[in-house]
Amino acid sequence: MKKDQIFSLINKECVRQKSMIGLIPSENHISPEVSEVLSSCLSSKYAEGYPHRRYYEGNQIIDEIEILAQDRIKKLFGVPHVNVQPYSGSPANGAVEFALLEPGDTLLGLALSGGGHLTHGHPKVTFSGKYFNSIQYGLNDRARIDFEQVRELALKHKPKLIIAGNTAYPFELDFAKFREIADEVGAWLLADISHVTGLVVAGEHMSPVPYADVIMSTTHKTFRGPRGAMILVTQRGLDRDPDLGSKIDKAVFPALQGGPHNATTAAIAIAASEAATPEFKKYGQQIRKNADVLASALKKQGLKLVGDGTETHLMLLDLTNYSDGMGLQVAFALDVAGIYANRNTIPHEPCSPFYPSGVRLGTPLVTSRGMKEKEMEQIAQWIARVVEEVKTEVLPSDKKERATFIKDFRTRALKNEQLLAIRSEVEDLAKKFPLFTWD
Ligand SMILES: *Cc1c(COP(=O)(O)O)cnc(C)c1O
Repeated sequence: MKKDQIFSLINKECVRQKSMIGLIPSENHISPEVSEVLSSCLSSKYAEGYPHRRYYEGNQIIDEIEILAQDRIKKLFGVPHVNVQPYSGSPANGAVEFALLEPGDTLLGLALSGGGHLTHGHPKVTFSGKYFNSIQYGLNDRARIDFEQVRELALKHKPKLIIAGNTAYPFELDFAKFREIADEVGAWLLADISHVTGLVVAGEHMSPVPYADVIMSTTHKTFRGPRGAMILVTQRGLDRDPDLGSKIDKAVFPALQGGPHNATTAAIAIAASEAATPEFKKYGQQIRKNADVLASALKKQGLKLVGDGTETHLMLLDLTNYSDGMGLQVAFALDVAGIYANRNTIPHEPCSPFYPSGVRLGTPLVTSRGMKEKEMEQIAQWIARVVEEVKTEVLPSDKKERATFIKDFRTRALKNEQLLAIRSEVEDLAKKFPLFTWD
């Protein structure tokens, strides 16, 4: 039989990843072991339910695998209860919200514009904004979480749930401060550490375990596991409600999901044991070092960063000193030049989410490839050259002209000789690094 076209497409995607430099902070390259487990026979089994309480026969071994995954995560974080079945971060947040709230109850989360996630109550278009009374907090003028506002909103609206978490916020989250406010109004505290789990495990970010009632994390970002998620219940959470673990479990299955993805569960177990090694601690430290070096090198090149830097794995280029709405042009030009990142709104975005004024950058991918400080300096130079090349590609203020402008801009960028020259330099460097290494 002819080999399916999908295989040649997969091959092309692998070549793309290897020949480019990835700076998307929510992505990572997985170890060969995680990858092997994901394509194993575990995918062929239905296992609705939980270990020893399944609705299908033949789950003796799946039970052992899921218990192993749970035990490893419990030990890694020091928590008494964990659910490793959520299909991904968004349904996991849905499960936590359904477990802790009734429809119409109030939740308080970080606005998307301040770096929050859609599932933290973004109004109108998301379940969390539609089915709950969602109140959103934001950032102060230093681009840090405005705790005075969080407290004022909490006192005024008495939320049942406060969410501390972020997807585009470059600074460390102070879970202790969130706890104080949650206690003042008797709210549950959910820490969504999807982006920073690897840093928490490596001791490079404050741990939410002593402060939160429930912790949610995706498993595919800095944790460097399979695409999936986990929900952790802390001792504090169980002390407040001994049924909290079972409420979370019921919200995942049967409320929101059917059969768990067993290969993912097994891959989470592998990722957990990898994360418990000294090498992973070094990985987390290097992510931070690389982010610091990248941030200061970008600033040295004259580029502006939201909040002037980073305390995590990510940073946001603020391009408003060139013009509002430059994010798409810069992200596209970077991609032409061999560096992939994503355009992003900045706090108090002057343009729009589709034509934002920022680009989000992060170091988990390059650090997994073994790149260090020297490479970050080089990458910052390339980024500065790319910005220089397209800084006059100003988005038209007339909204009707924008789509045509972008189309023409793309044609220009794809033929831009400077960008293509950078691309060949990027490829030369990228090819020297494997996608995943422990060194
Ligand atoms: C990525 C992310 C999610 C959602 O994860 P998906 O797997 O994309 O659904 C939720 N919360 C935060 C903070 C995230 O960064």
